[in-house]
Amino acid sequence: MLNLLDLAPADAEKVLREFAVAHGHQAYRGSQVVPHLWTRPVGSFAEMTDLPAAFRELLARHFVLPRLELVTQQASTDGTRKFLFRMADGQAIETVAIPDDDRMTFCISSQAGCALQCAFCATGAMGFLRNLDVHEIAGQVRELALLDPPVKATNIVFMGMGEPLMNWKAVEHVLTILNDPKGFGIGARHITVSTVGWLPGIEALARRKEQFRLALSIHAPTDALRQTLMPVNTKFPLADVIHAAARFDRRVTFEYVMLGGVNDRNEHADQLAQLARECKAFVNLIPLHPGGAMGFTPTPPEAIAKFARRIRTLGVEVAIRKSRGMDIAAACGQLRVERLRRGAPAGTQHDRQVDVA
Ligand code: SAH
Repeated sequence: MLNLLDLAPADAEKVLREFAVAHGHQAYRGSQVVPHLWTRPVGSFAEMTDLPAAFRELLARHFVLPRLELVTQQASTDGTRKFLFRMADGQAIETVAIPDDDRMTFCISSQAGCALQCAFCATGAMGFLRNLDVHEIAGQVRELALLDPPVKATNIVFMGMGEPLMNWKAVEHVLTILNDPKGFGIGARHITVSTVGWLPGIEALARRKEQFRLALSIHAPTDALRQTLMPVNTKFPLADVIHAAARFDRRVTFEYVMLGGVNDRNEHADQLAQLARECKAFVNLIPLHPGGAMGFTPTPPEAIAKFARRIRTLGVEVAIRKSRGMDIAAACGQLRVERLRRGAPAGTQHDRQVDVA
């Protein structure tokens, strides 16, 4: 049984057209299936009512369209919605949908858990469980489009659970599905891959011809400090990450979580601005979500504003992320952690903000 949702749309179409012909149907019947996978998705072959019943039954005997099970969801008063999905092996992942004016940004997961152990991150604390398959990553977007009423993404950020560039084998196909007009048809500039600076993955992303955006989790402007927050810095030191960002010929965003008394001094702002200038990056300052933040305290809002002004004075574009989903467990890994530890989701003060510029 071939899983059509693990294939890029063009590959699925080829398989389906050949399948149709091999079973005595016209090739275009195969093409007719494709919009039902992503663009105007339906949950099963039976629901593809523009196809003859006999062909639908034939499809169901040879192909599968696996679903993700929606375990629970939470809605914030600000309109942010968070979804917990269970996959076939029982592992759980999170997806967040953030409305903002006419945009709807989905924050999607690329791995169950994460190997990287960033000191302030709830997903890191659960350890690495496994990579997600193509259909499990793209399926998060598909499942929300299958809701009644549907929730459709205009923007995608890979800022849910996991390190997308450590799962490039799947993510490279997911990018195609998201962007392809026969997939979700989301513009490449509206799709952002966020990474700790996993160099082989940045190079692979740079080789793509589409204008996908890159966000780099910098979080500290020196190796000595970054090392204490992000163990991955030993493998890929800051200078190498900055070099890769400078060579990336499309817009790069720096993400910088503001950790009170740790990375929020004037000298840090100056050093960060210098790095940003080297790669013409835009800086996003992120208020810390206390959720996963063992031992860290958020930098006060006035101090974040001052830090931002200092960076701006040095000629670097900077924004402070607004916090969204304040009243739900909408920080990285938090819903899963709550659900699995306590058995039920609970409202928390934690927030999560994912509207990348
Ligand atoms: N692994 C990728 C993508 C997932 S995390 C990456 O690190 O970029 C997405 C963003 O959320 C990263 O910038 C990450 O550092 C940030 N993040 C993790 N925990 C956070 C917290 N408690 N508060 C604020 N941002 C957090």
